[in-house]
Amino acid sequence: MIKISNLTKEFSGVKVLDGLNLEINEGDVVALIGASGAGKSTFLRSIDYLEEADSGIIEIDDFKVDLSKITKKEILELRRKTAMVFQQFNLFERKTALENVMEGLTQVKKMNKEEAKKIAEETLKGVGLAERMDYYPKFLSGGQKQRVGIARAVAMNPKLLLLDEPTSALDPELVFEVQETILNLAKQGQTMVIVSHEMDFVYNVASKVLFLEKGKIIEEGTPQDVFYTPKNPRVRDFLTRHN
Ligand code: ATP
Ligand code: MG
Repeated sequence: MIKISNLTKEFSGVKVLDGLNLEINEGDVVALIGASGAGKSTFLRSIDYLEEADSGIIEIDDFKVDLSKITKKEILELRRKTAMVFQQFNLFERKTALENVMEGLTQVKKMNKEEAKKIAEETLKGVGLAERMDYYPKFLSGGQKQRVGIARAVAMNPKLLLLDEPTSALDPELVFEVQETILNLAKQGQTMVIVSHEMDFVYNVASKVLFLEKGKIIEEGTPQDVFYTPKNPRVRDFLTRHN
């Protein structure tokens, strides 16, 4: 069970996250939607402490941390339990696909190289990249790069996987393979929060949809609820424009 309570963040006096609360059950796929600037990325990044929230409590099973007074040790612990997939992949250009996936295992999890290599190979196979493990990012397509990004995060065996618009930097013909990879992870029971502007994909992958506006959740429910019978007229407007 993951619980986020009263998450708050201001940027120069403007509340970008306004006391957010969210409970995530194991195996849930939570999709975060909303207009540009709503606070979606800030929300994801705060969970991983890539963004320093002003306040908020994060509980992951029996690990509980107060973000307003988080210690270095707790930051490391939080990052062992969560993993992020970035819009722009953020791969190490001078490392192969395999080395990219091994990096967190050896550096953060302190695994020996042999063990890390085994897990990295398995994970890369799982995202369909068995034939591309020794390639450097510049010789991979966008879709392949993002699948390395996903493998790198998943290899860490995170309690919670965070994905921030994982397909929005891809050419249209490459979107599908990455969406399929994410759908597969969802089927395998990976708990995740995903930010996406692709409503068809959100509808297919999510068990719960949250609509964020000005740092507040103004609508939440199953994809059916939120897409077909939204209570808030602004959510209805947004969805009309995005379909
Ligand atoms: P998009 O759909 O465009 O990615 P978003 O919902 O992810 O939008 P955020 O990136 O979380 O939105 O930004 C929320 C608000 O916080 C925006 O108004 C943005 O300008 C502001 N913001 C984000 N990061 C910073 C920062 N480092 N410094 C100042 N303001 C910031
Ligand atoms: Mg964003």
